Amino acid sequence: MKNSIAAIDHYIHGQVVANASGRTQDVFNPATGALTGRTGLADVDQVNAAVAAAQAAFPKWADTPPIRRARVMFKFLELLNQHRDELAHLITAEHGKVFTDAQGEVTRGIDIVEFACGIPQLLKGDFTEQVSTGIDNWTLRQPLGVVAGITPFNFPVMVPMWMFPVAIAAGNTFVLKPSPTDPSPSLRIAELLKEAGLPDGVFNVVQGDKVAVDALLTHPDVKAVSFVGSTPIANYIYETGARHGKRVQALGGAKNHMVVMPDADIDQAVDALIGAGYGSAGERCMAISVAVLVGDVADKLIPKLVERTRTLKVLDGENLDAEMGPIVTKAAHERIRGYIDLGEQEGAKLLVDGRGFDGKQAGEGCEGGFWLGGTLFDHVTPEMRIYKEEIFGPVLGCVRVKDLAEAVDLINAHEFGNGVACFTRDGNVAREFGRRIQVGMVGINVPIPVPMAWQGFGGWKRSLFGDMHAYGEEGVRFYTKQKSIMQRWPESIGKGAEFVMPTAK
Ligand code: NAD
Repeated sequence: MKNSIAAIDHYIHGQVVANASGRTQDVFNPATGALTGRTGLADVDQVNAAVAAAQAAFPKWADTPPIRRARVMFKFLELLNQHRDELAHLITAEHGKVFTDAQGEVTRGIDIVEFACGIPQLLKGDFTEQVSTGIDNWTLRQPLGVVAGITPFNFPVMVPMWMFPVAIAAGNTFVLKPSPTDPSPSLRIAELLKEAGLPDGVFNVVQGDKVAVDALLTHPDVKAVSFVGSTPIANYIYETGARHGKRVQALGGAKNHMVVMPDADIDQAVDALIGAGYGSAGERCMAISVAVLVGDVADKLIPKLVERTRTLKVLDGENLDAEMGPIVTKAAHERIRGYIDLGEQEGAKLLVDGRGFDGKQAGEGCEGGFWLGGTLFDHVTPEMRIYKEEIFGPVLGCVRVKDLAEAVDLINAHEFGNGVACFTRDGNVAREFGRRIQVGMVGINVPIPVPMAWQGFGGWKRSLFGDMHAYGEEGVRFYTKQKSIMQRWPESIGKGAEFVMPTAK
């Protein structure tokens, strides 16, 4: 049995490289609880080897015309479309999310690759003729060098694809440090990039934990770090990376609210809460974890929400009928159960309790998996820890407020500001809400307003450390530096040295 446990290694300079640290982390199938792999945890030497490979590949890749870099992306896009389901199965096997959701994840990653295919247009600078007599001035954008991506478990394909397609297309070389919880998709991505014609060393993967992260954060050749994960680590990455002179964008945790106004369509709101609260077992940074019920909306909405939460189809993710799969790890399962216990102690009213869910109901072989049913609390209040903290599981809390102003104040006082939604039929309410809310991504009657590839993704407050959002034009700016060139030719140069500040003549 031991022999069937896959070793999940690193990918450096175009090939798989065995782990050399002697440290590994077990990888499980969350649906069955079975040990399926052991991922290597890189030591500093292996991280250095990956950075050295990326550094060596950089000059030639940076010099490759953008249109040729784009052609590699086009080929990669074609391969991703061919292998979409294979990648989705890899996600389900190690993350547990349902297969159709995993397909959606891959598709949202592919969107970014499509965006990156337009890199020649995105890198175009601007030009001003005659900024002074005989002098022209233009800007151009050049790649930074080696850049690193450190990614969370919850989107093992999409979140790396928020980063490397744009970074690589812009002429950088890349070192990805995926989550050790579900590391396999990163290696398949590396193979597909190679098949697409990407030169060796342009994209590298180091599997690992804090040791690998710290090695990247302090390495002098790593020029920028993109991070997505929990807020305490995002904060640490931002501070440490900045202290070592790097550009950093660090996206953190969330507590996303959905306001339901009294005029909202109740069935639509219930559909939205069920999908956004329990989809991917609530393990999305844009999951809705708080329903803010305004006025008398609770009386109409709660009975329907209870019924739908109770009848969620919690099944093995490979079952195409599944609406929700297992929790990613045993540790996460215990943490979420702990929050449900806490909610009861804090005095919230537990309307649906997912703790009793038996894995046997999820499918054959699932009795050892990390299963929880959907959980619903009512009468959650802002002082409770189950309101303040990110639970990151299938636990939805309802908070009751009297009007829109109270809803907005509540949300604006929260430490996180990733996503938010408001369900209403009233244009004025929608407009006021959109203007007043202190959150980075807002949905009006859209529960999960994840911006498309060309628009950029990022929260506010302690959901994002750094200035620039992921992907979109901000992503291009993050992975490039602007240069301004001012030029004149001998006929325009007057005689003698000038000692005064140059001004337009
Ligand atoms: P995590 O913070 O535990 O891990 C993220 C990455 O950091 C992983 O690669 C991990 O190996 C590394 N890491 C963990 N501990 C570290 C440490 N002490 N020092 C250095 N590196 C460390 O997050 P996770 O549990 O994998 O993912 C879930 C979290 O990610 C949630 O908080 C979720 O909200 C957040 N998330 C945010 C977004 C967003 O866009 N804002 C998107 C997806 C997930």
